[in-house]
Amino acid sequence: MTSKPRTIRLSKASIGDAEKQAVLRPLDREYLGMGTEVQGFETELEAYLGRPAVCVATGTAALQLALQGIGIGPGDEVLVPSLTFVASFQAIAATGATPVACDIRADSCMLDVADARRRLTARTRAVMPVHYAGGVGDLDQVYAFARDEGLRVVEDAAHAFGTVHHGKPVGANGDVVCFSFDGIKNITSGEGGCVVTDDPETLSRVRDARLLGVENDTSARFSGQRSWDFDVTAQGWRYHMSDIMAAIGRTQLARRESLAEKRQALAKRYAQRLGASDRIAPVLTRFDDVVPHIFPVRIAGLPDRDVLRLQLRDRGVETGVHYRPNHLLTFFARSDQAPLPIAERVYAELLSLPLHPDLDDSDIDYVCAQLLEALSAI
Ligand SMILES: *Cc1c(COP(=O)(O)O)cnc(C)c1O
Repeated sequence: MTSKPRTIRLSKASIGDAEKQAVLRPLDREYLGMGTEVQGFETELEAYLGRPAVCVATGTAALQLALQGIGIGPGDEVLVPSLTFVASFQAIAATGATPVACDIRADSCMLDVADARRRLTARTRAVMPVHYAGGVGDLDQVYAFARDEGLRVVEDAAHAFGTVHHGKPVGANGDVVCFSFDGIKNITSGEGGCVVTDDPETLSRVRDARLLGVENDTSARFSGQRSWDFDVTAQGWRYHMSDIMAAIGRTQLARRESLAEKRQALAKRYAQRLGASDRIAPVLTRFDDVVPHIFPVRIAGLPDRDVLRLQLRDRGVETGVHYRPNHLLTFFARSDQAPLPIAERVYAELLSLPLHPDLDDSDIDYVCAQLLEALSAI
């Protein structure tokens, strides 16, 4: 048995000298709040995506403010796949609206539009597709469904920064698109996120809401000022991004191509190495247009995932489970909910393998060898 003394982390930020140097800019300026670095990050994101981006403190805040920006609130229902990070659900709940858990498609692990359609009510106002692992699933069908039913779309693109759809980066098109820049995402600002849309009303609401609802405070901050004689006309939050975070984010945005290529190459190697196994099915298999954030596989007939995870941990391989479906969480479980059989079946089979830009081919080969060996004994 191979027993190399290494620990392969499930995910982590990839930080170089450039990020460390960048953080010195706001520190040297002794201006740490929302100022020129955030403005610069927004300008650079807009250049990449071709339309305005509003930076906020976290990806969860981006989702909450996007929903608030399109007018979602108490009494409204938002359709969302159950297989997502709890952030999607909490962001909906934070607006006072109800997240309505929808089933997923077994092939993509993303929203099943037919199931979402069955959960429509008179209160349904929006749908939140989640770009699981970095793919986009049936995004065109989601938009067709939303058009038919008069729903708004808020894309949870937390996993998909850099992914290309119809020849353009995710975020370049679509109603409202939200990214996360938390520590382990495809690009990071430490913590952070952004809302991308061309809807002027939503943009202006999100800009004000991130600064406690203080009207037009964004322009004041970007010129090194702040507003004193202001009015507030809506609920706001202290959700702005700081210049320290933006300085890291700008560096990562500039590095996005090499970070993305690394993720793509590693994921391709996983898919090749695991392709021969009849028990292991990677959720994503094509990576030319997809920048994978995680590498989940489905393992059929797994008697005890925890045992497998412990065995892999003993061999120095960290694994994860993305995710426990949200309709199984106490806070989001609803007694009137139709069953979600696919999400539950897929959940039992899911295992995420290590993926981050600082791994190399030999790490992937090691993980695959350990996984295949451990599985052959189960
Ligand atoms: C990371 C993530 C979020 C939230 O982003 P944060 O920046 O961590 O708040 C939302 N949805 C999904 C699917 C995520 O993975």
